[in-house]
Amino acid sequence: MSNKIVFVSGNQGKIKEVKSFLKDLKIKILTLKDIDFNATIDEPYVTFAENSKIKAQTIHSTYGYNCISDDSGLMVKTLDGEPGVNTARYAGKGATSHENMDKLLNVLKGKKDRSAEFITIITLIHNNKINQFEGKVKGSISNSKTGAYGFGYDPIFIPDGSDLTFGQMKKEEKAMYSHRAKALKKVRV
Ligand code: IMP
Repeated sequence: MSNKIVFVSGNQGKIKEVKSFLKDLKIKILTLKDIDFNATIDEPYVTFAENSKIKAQTIHSTYGYNCISDDSGLMVKTLDGEPGVNTARYAGKGATSHENMDKLLNVLKGKKDRSAEFITIITLIHNNKINQFEGKVKGSISNSKTGAYGFGYDPIFIPDGSDLTFGQMKKEEKAMYSHRAKALKKVRV
């Protein structure tokens, strides 16, 4: 069992990135679907770290598998760090990525300061030891949606150092900047 790790997420975009970034480690990444877990894990906390931890702990304590989880979000400076831990639900529970992006673009209409930061906290439970790894990327919110690669808010996030949104970048290029790639580089099993 020790060479298998469950990635605790139903987000296909995250699953693709995690499988790709961890491909050099000698582990098999299982998804929640692979272990027949179909419920939703609540994210009741106000920090990424606590929400990330509860995801990994829920699966670890139920199944005993080694686990990796990710809790992430977008913090917009002029909105005092919102949407933060509510990034997935910014336009309401069950909102699509397009609804969330449209809301953010509307809220930021006319605002000069469009700086923002993506953050993720990865939790690893491996051989009953728990560790967390942080990854961040600073950037800005574009004026409109551009690009069809990636997932979530990728079409409206421009990382510092590039003129392109994540939505215009292929996986390998996004990995040069992304919060998730930075955090996953620290993972050792
Ligand atoms: P959670 O981690 O499930 O609470 O949700 C994270 C939210 O941030 C979702 O709305 C994701 O679409 C968004 N998100 C996290 N990482 C990225 C990314 O790399 N690109 C675009 N959106 C992201």
